[in-house]
Amino acid sequence: MRPALSFVTALLALALAPPLVADDDQITVYSARQEHLIKPLFDRFTEETGIRVRYVTDNAGPLLARLKAEGRNTPADMLMTVDAGNLWQAAEEGVLNSVDSETLRSNIPGYLRDPDGQWFGLSVRARTIIYSTERVDPDELSTYEALAEPEWEGRLCLRTSRKVYNQSLVAMMIARHGEEKTQEIVEGWVDNLAASPFSNDTSVMQAIEAGQCDVGIVNTYYFGRLQKDDPDIPLALHWANQDEHGVHVNVSGAGITRHAGNPEGARKLLEWLSGEEAQEMFGALNLEYPASEDVPLNDLVAAWGEFDPDTINVSEAGRLQVPAVMLMDRAGYR
Ligand code: FE
Repeated sequence: MRPALSFVTALLALALAPPLVADDDQITVYSARQEHLIKPLFDRFTEETGIRVRYVTDNAGPLLARLKAEGRNTPADMLMTVDAGNLWQAAEEGVLNSVDSETLRSNIPGYLRDPDGQWFGLSVRARTIIYSTERVDPDELSTYEALAEPEWEGRLCLRTSRKVYNQSLVAMMIARHGEEKTQEIVEGWVDNLAASPFSNDTSVMQAIEAGQCDVGIVNTYYFGRLQKDDPDIPLALHWANQDEHGVHVNVSGAGITRHAGNPEGARKLLEWLSGEEAQEMFGALNLEYPASEDVPLNDLVAAWGEFDPDTINVSEAGRLQVPAVMLMDRAGYR
């Protein structure tokens, strides 16, 4: 009886014990980016380095909750997500580790990464003004702030304030103008709305195309998707705030987890993702902009022309997210 029991116990212990040596040839990534946007990159990385990449995809919130709950038992070596607000949150919650990498510092401009090195922007999304080429003269357009002027009454469409993209945009406006002025601007937007806020950027553009409104604010890659389907769509982008601080940009990015079992492998992947080949793929896959400068753009994206981005550190989007949400609520922006 006794020997049999200890044999079973030993078997159980073997089955339940974590491997004694971490697998250096494998990394696990928790990704809020969809599979079709990351798999081609991971496949190339594996081809070049021999390091395999396992990944779990979900929304940013559940992935962060999971990382926290798993603590030091997490299988994740890297967290990859969109929006500096989400990356900032992950750093705040203590699930990431600082990375000190000359490669990352030289490939990724300072304003697109965490000042403490806990996360790095890997692609840039520009959020700017979109307008009807049938009903708007581009000379009428200038800034996000000017969309609060009375001339746009009944002509503006916006996505819901519940989307982190708009929370980040308003957070950046708070960083630039302070709360009082920003609230006046947001109230002006609300006064100018032609329709209740939409659930996504594509609906905003469809409403403009349908004549429900004339202008909106969207991430450019959503416009790129519509343009791919219909090159003659009567909409165009206006680069906002070019005489002020520049177009509001945000990032998708990644950081190495605090309890990574293979932090060296994760660092290799992060550095590789910041390199030219991966940066060019990033742009092409989702019609975004590379985070690294001097990387060639996808043709469709290049055709939109050049713009100056707002180079305030994108981590401000996280730091001021709560005040931004409260401000939009006070302004009646739903
Ligand atoms: Fe998006």
